[in-house]
Amino acid sequence: QAKRQRKGSCHTFDPSLHQAISHRLRIEQALRLALKEEELEVWYQPILDARSGETLMVEALARWPRAEGYCPPTEFIPIAEEAGLIGELGMWIAGQAIAALPALRRQRPNLALNINLSVLQLLQEDLVTVLSHQCDAAGLPREAIHMELTESLFANDHIKVKRQLERLVAAGFAIHLDDFGTGYSSLQRLQEMPVTTLKMDRCFLARLEQGDERIVRAILSLGQTLNMAVIVEGVETQAQRHRLLELGAHLMQGYLFSPPLPLPRLQAWLTSAFRISDESDI
Ligand code: C2E
Ligand code: MG
Ligand code: MG
Ligand code: MG
Repeated sequence: QAKRQRKGSCHTFDPSLHQAISHRLRIEQALRLALKEEELEVWYQPILDARSGETLMVEALARWPRAEGYCPPTEFIPIAEEAGLIGELGMWIAGQAIAALPALRRQRPNLALNINLSVLQLLQEDLVTVLSHQCDAAGLPREAIHMELTESLFANDHIKVKRQLERLVAAGFAIHLDDFGTGYSSLQRLQEMPVTTLKMDRCFLARLEQGDERIVRAILSLGQTLNMAVIVEGVETQAQRHRLLELGAHLMQGYLFSPPLPLPRLQAWLTSAFRISDESDI
């Protein structure tokens, strides 16, 4: 115990720490290989206008199939970030999703695509060039692509962050602020940044269920004040959908409508003229 606390000691042997490190290294190596062998997958979750049931956007989400099942992105994305693989991973996901979008837009003409970007990717100099190129190659207007970034963005060099966001917006891409309300949030920073949409984190819906809708109302009115659209994440029940509509929110994403789907299942879903009626109980 005492030994463990001695900083910089090379002689401490902590078997659990050792195990954790070698576990991490194994995942990192496997991820490197999976990227090289193109074993990752892109799944898509619809984002709807919950008034009409129309799908307006789909969010691309990375999936990593492994022998023992899918490894959750909350586990491998941070590893990719720390191992310096996120640039490659992120661009591969973006490339796949952008290439898939034209066919989806033949089904749903104005369908837009949301891509998650790590802050580390945002700070990459060639990001805007690469994304613009992928978009042009697919014959897509830049307006069809939205970049999702989390609030942790604001913890970084804000001049640089702002400049990169402005470059993305100047190129025609929209900026969505993901998991909004949970992170390091300065309203002043938010106001300064060219953010088009707030994605309200799903944790606030639990409170809605308990009759506490203060934060939900506050975020909706903040969106109005700042002239930003608000997407509500994690809508799971009809009761939530109803109350949100009453509160003036209509852009929604969540298991009530659809979980993330592999491409062929998304296409089937888009075809099946999906309408969520008030009567349907899910
Ligand atoms: P996120 O961007 O906030 O994505 C939404 C997450 O919420 C997804 O988890 C989705 O499956 C889940 N979700 C959607 N609707 C519901 C619902 O009704 N209830 C519940 N309980 N969950 C719901 P997923 O796919 O496991 O992704 C987790 C996080 O990993 C994402 O959160 C995002 O931050 C990150 N991530 C995923 N793919 C990528 C990627 O390609 N690049 C980067 N940088 N991050 C990614
Ligand atoms: Mg997201
Ligand atoms: Mg989110
Ligand atoms: Mg999230």
